Amino acid sequence: YVSVVLFTADLRLYDHPPLRAALEGARQVVPLFVRDTGVTGAGFATPNRLAFLADCLRDLDAGLRRRGGRLVVRSGDVVEEVCRVATEADADEVHLAADVSAYAHRREQRLRRALEADGRRLHVHDTVTTVVTPGAVTPASSDHFAVFTPYFRQWSAQHVRDVRDAPRAVRVPPGIGSEELPSRAALSGLSPGLAEGGETAGRERLAAWLRSGVAAYEDRHDDLAGDATSRLSPHLHFGTLSPVEVVRRARLTGGPGAEAFVRQIAWRDFHRQLLAARPAAAGADYRTKHDHWRSERTAWDDIEAWRQGRTGYPVVDAAMRQLLHEGWMHNRARLLTASFLAKTLYVDWRVGARHFLRLLVDGDVANNQLNWQWVAGTGTDTRPNRVLNPLAQAGRHDPDGAYVRRWVPELRDIAGPAVHEPWKLGAADRARTGDYPDPVIGLAEGLSRFRQARARD
Ligand code: FAD
Repeated sequence: YVSVVLFTADLRLYDHPPLRAALEGARQVVPLFVRDTGVTGAGFATPNRLAFLADCLRDLDAGLRRRGGRLVVRSGDVVEEVCRVATEADADEVHLAADVSAYAHRREQRLRRALEADGRRLHVHDTVTTVVTPGAVTPASSDHFAVFTPYFRQWSAQHVRDVRDAPRAVRVPPGIGSEELPSRAALSGLSPGLAEGGETAGRERLAAWLRSGVAAYEDRHDDLAGDATSRLSPHLHFGTLSPVEVVRRARLTGGPGAEAFVRQIAWRDFHRQLLAARPAAAGADYRTKHDHWRSERTAWDDIEAWRQGRTGYPVVDAAMRQLLHEGWMHNRARLLTASFLAKTLYVDWRVGARHFLRLLVDGDVANNQLNWQWVAGTGTDTRPNRVLNPLAQAGRHDPDGAYVRRWVPELRDIAGPAVHEPWKLGAADRARTGDYPDPVIGLAEGLSRFRQARARD
């Protein structure tokens, strides 16, 4: 018989349980990707992610062709297109990776209903997009963990399945039409320094990271200028790398760096199990509701300054410009810029989350929305009222100012840590900083507004 494998956030051939399962049973397989109008309509198809996706689809197609197959690409409503392809191929079954968002749940339910109405089966596979299945570990009193540390303890004790090889051959039935593959070159509005997508690039990065990056991760992951994190996030988002494979190989590498790195992958699973249990947390305050955010209209100039990297706080501005330029930002930079918007400027975290989602190549409902909630104090941080001071953060994580000089050209001529407080420069140095702005707000003023608002909430 024939199987359809619907690829979604799992754009790879290595360690792909749905594809392996399909190939074990079926004579022929249709590897299908649908450019889903539901995803486009919800605003998730932004230029940076579309470009990375185009790379991924081309690489997936090339990998399938090396194995005698090819990728079938269609556009439209995902359920209608899967049913159409299943009919054309006279397929008995469809394989799909489980995913966690409300949209993914609905997609799965709609697909199951539509396929079963036609006498076909839907197989949904766990541990394709997460290491541990959401809901597989729970605390005694709830259906999900709301605190990371106890989650991590149980997560770490879970058995992790074996890694599957990529298939050697894939036979696709003839006569199934495909659209042309999308290409990065046809897109506009991309961040100029955007990373390359695709499984080949992802596997190369993972190998290089395990060889020469991960050992120093524990010591260096917060060093902004050192840029010493894996940068695997877009590959994990698009599934060009399997999180199971990443964790297994990191554990084999061993050492404190690898352990600290695996802990971060557990954060990814943590947010996924939370979103799976509470899909509304993508938009609504998860644990604590706050009502006194400044409105977008009142705070418009501050929001715009934040987006453009012109707040007058060099470390914040460097980070926001890195985001504009690369479509990616260092984790420490995400933390301090998010805290600056949500707490120092007291703007609703959803405004910031939207900007991040528009630009981030790894922009991800679970990780983005729940990390924003963590920072804003509406989510799972057990110290929701802490405020990150950008100057203290700069002193700790960019002590010499190299990160600022890399991203803020106006400040390139200011040596050493003085670059973090341009308002303190003497007249001659200040004159060399061009039109770099004064701070949009004093930190003490921001802090007192934050405390007053929280007292009212
Ligand atoms: P590494 O430090 O090398 O970590 C390895 C992997 O662990 C990452 O690729 C990621 O998959 C996972 N990871 C690391 N930190 C976290 C975390 N705090 N939460 C969940 N998973 C984590 N990550 C996204 O993938 N997509 C997002 O949209 C996203 N938005 C964020 C928004 C805010 C406000 C904050 C504070 C964090 C956000 N993160 C997001 C988490 C984190 O910043 C990125 O995953 C990380 O910076 C990616 O770089 P890396 O791959 O080099 O990470």
